Amino acid sequence: MSSTKNHVIILGTGPAGLTAGVYTARSNLAPLIIEGPLPGGQLTTTTDVENFPGFSEGIMGPRLMDEMRKQSERFGAKIETGWIDRVEFNGPIIKLFGAEKEYETEALIISTGATAKTLGLPREAELMGYGVSTCATCDGAFFKDQEIVVVGGGDSACEEAGYLTKFGCRVRLIHRREEFRASKIMIDRVKKNPKVEIVINTTVTELVGDQKNGLTGLILQNTVTGEKSEISCAALFYAIGHTPNTNLFKGILDMDENGYLITAPESTKTKIPGVFACGDVRDHVYRQAITAAGNGCMAAIEVERYLAEKE
Ligand code: NAP
Repeated sequence: MSSTKNHVIILGTGPAGLTAGVYTARSNLAPLIIEGPLPGGQLTTTTDVENFPGFSEGIMGPRLMDEMRKQSERFGAKIETGWIDRVEFNGPIIKLFGAEKEYETEALIISTGATAKTLGLPREAELMGYGVSTCATCDGAFFKDQEIVVVGGGDSACEEAGYLTKFGCRVRLIHRREEFRASKIMIDRVKKNPKVEIVINTTVTELVGDQKNGLTGLILQNTVTGEKSEISCAALFYAIGHTPNTNLFKGILDMDENGYLITAPESTKTKIPGVFACGDVRDHVYRQAITAAGNGCMAAIEVERYLAEKE
């Protein structure tokens, strides 16, 4: 089994990881960035990104990530594909174990991101970015004056339904139960919004559409009567929660009740010296590419200082 020794390893190639890559590479730390199963992270599953500063005409998500990747490589970051299934944080040298390779590093930046939950419906992968989305802030503006559906019954669903009324002619909020998990204030706000129609006891069972025409409708099922119906819509936003990609660190690093990593206030430091976390893996509030990138920058600067102090 081969093994490498590094100053800093970055786990994950979303905006947080690649920004940390640019900064640590420019600090001559020769970062090794390990990319997992979704190179480029969640942004590669969207189409146009219109809210990342610096691109007045917008930029395609995959292209933005490709640019970040090239930018980090330009300064000497090395990117390799790998899957780490065990870590050891027992001393000054951090150890990571993959199926075929072991890694040693003085500092580790965890930027493994979070995965938006979806319903796993047939055609979902095909229509993702073509009407189906997991990010209202990213994609809402594409659906001006169109029928929009949000699925979920938590605070995110309420917040996104309200936000999406800025664009859609109507927003249907579809929830599988009668009671909402969302806080009272959030659901009350949605109920008062004349552009939101709340549909309870209902699930989405099928997506209608194709990549040429985009999403055109949904088949719904009433959870009480079992009755099925079809509605027309141009957009479906999932707001059924996110899962932070933190399984690897269970029992080792501090996490909140939803599995997000906890870092020191206004810092990316975890409780283990030399181990830093940035981006969506520790942020369930903002979850934007730009906030993740900023957080990746913070992690890189903190790593630089950590290594300098160690010397
Ligand atoms: P959440 O609270 O876990 O709610 C997820 C919602 O999705 C629930 O209503 C759940 O239904 C539904 N759901 C889950 N799986 C589903 C499935 N397979 N089919 C249909 N529906 C499904 O997630 P969240 O709304 O993203 O919130 C996460 C955390 O962030 C919460 O702590 C929340 O308070 C916080 N947050 C706060 C704000 C704010 O204060 N401004 C905004 C956003 C998020 P059930 O209810 O039936 O389980």
